[in-house]
Amino acid sequence: ESVDVVVLGAGPAGLTLGNVLIDAGIDCVILERTSRRQVQTRTRAGFLAENTVRILERHGLADGLRRRGREHSRCEFRTEDGRFALDYAGLGRGERHTVYPQQELVSDLLACFLAAGGRIRFETEASAVLDADTDRPRVLVRDRDGRPDRWRARYVAGCDGRHGAARNSLPPGAVRRHHSDHGLSWLGLLAEAPPSMPAVAYAVHGRGFAGHMARTAEVTRYYVQCERGTSAESWSEDRIWDELALRMRTADYGPLNQGRVIQRGIVDLESDVLEPLRHGSLFLAGDAASLLSPSAAKGANLAVLEAEILGQALIADLLRGDSAGLERYSDQCLSVIWRAQEFSHWMIRLLHDVPGPDSSFQHALRRSRLASLRTSRSRQNWFAENYVGV
Ligand code: FAD
Repeated sequence: ESVDVVVLGAGPAGLTLGNVLIDAGIDCVILERTSRRQVQTRTRAGFLAENTVRILERHGLADGLRRRGREHSRCEFRTEDGRFALDYAGLGRGERHTVYPQQELVSDLLACFLAAGGRIRFETEASAVLDADTDRPRVLVRDRDGRPDRWRARYVAGCDGRHGAARNSLPPGAVRRHHSDHGLSWLGLLAEAPPSMPAVAYAVHGRGFAGHMARTAEVTRYYVQCERGTSAESWSEDRIWDELALRMRTADYGPLNQGRVIQRGIVDLESDVLEPLRHGSLFLAGDAASLLSPSAAKGANLAVLEAEILGQALIADLLRGDSAGLERYSDQCLSVIWRAQEFSHWMIRLLHDVPGPDSSFQHALRRSRLASLRTSRSRQNWFAENYVGV
């Protein structure tokens, strides 16, 4: 079959883009490897920046998050030098987060796309994008019965994450990958327990980092830094709660609400950026364009922003023959991506003792970094601007 735009992947990037395109009457299809159920139950991000909410609102995609999302504007640091909180809505640009679980956002985006008559093929895995250097690229797929099929398009939007067909189809040398492995890992947990405080809490401890992030009134996300190569199952629930209590210094600051651990997984802290974000008729957005370590909660926000920029550029090209937006797309997104990467890298250095031959020097720098965040108003303004901004 033939359409104007084939969108690979039904995550925040692909579904936002699908909605933007269909709103303008562009003929498009979304191809998604997994089932509708899997797409709607994958728990990942939760913190949406104001700019993300504004973009979604502009396209009539924010009803759910306006109704069920919760405003959030406080974070707390627990360190060997004491505890301090930042009310970031009163700092920087005065912006706050909306806490809204990613699976709910994705469900809303999907419902809007389908209600507008959008076409989506679940359980359809793209295996390759061919002829991307021409103006008739093709996407090879396998449908849910394993039968091969193909789509032709004018443009292909690769929104299929870091292991998707878009990245894998880039010919050697066409795009450069900047990569950093921070050598650190987190055990990410979802606990069936109400949040223990009205703040995101970052605990910096000699035994490693621990984090507390609200998700809903009943569910809280926790992170515990662990050895690289650890299996998520090797930690018992008792060990998880003991370690969280120790690192979050509950003896000094009060207990955590405990509950059943309902989901767990290991996150290796890695970052990468592809450059440029375009190869001919193939464009990359979201995690396919750049992977951010979750230390600064930026990935889903960048995915929505890039989808909006790409959507407007595709509309201008396909409806008005104006290709300037598509030509600018990569540079425009890369400047935002690198700024988010820089902040996320700074957060990693704020929250961890990075091992290495100069570890005592790094440890002292880390304490000093926290001290300036605690005491310097201009540092706090900078933090707030970057923490909520994209
Ligand atoms: P994805 O959500 O990964 O979607 C890609 C889609 O493409 C998937 O549905 C996949 O099945 C599909 N796909 C893959 N390959 C193919 C193929 N070959 N053919 C067809 N379809 C394919 N970000 C934040 O902003 N805030 C947070 O608080 C936050 N917390 C996080 C916590 C965790 C534990 C993790 C892992 C991530 C977190 N992130 C956070 C990052 C955020 O979840 C991602 O950046 C975001 O999901 C990226 O959206 P995307 O649409 O680019 O990719």
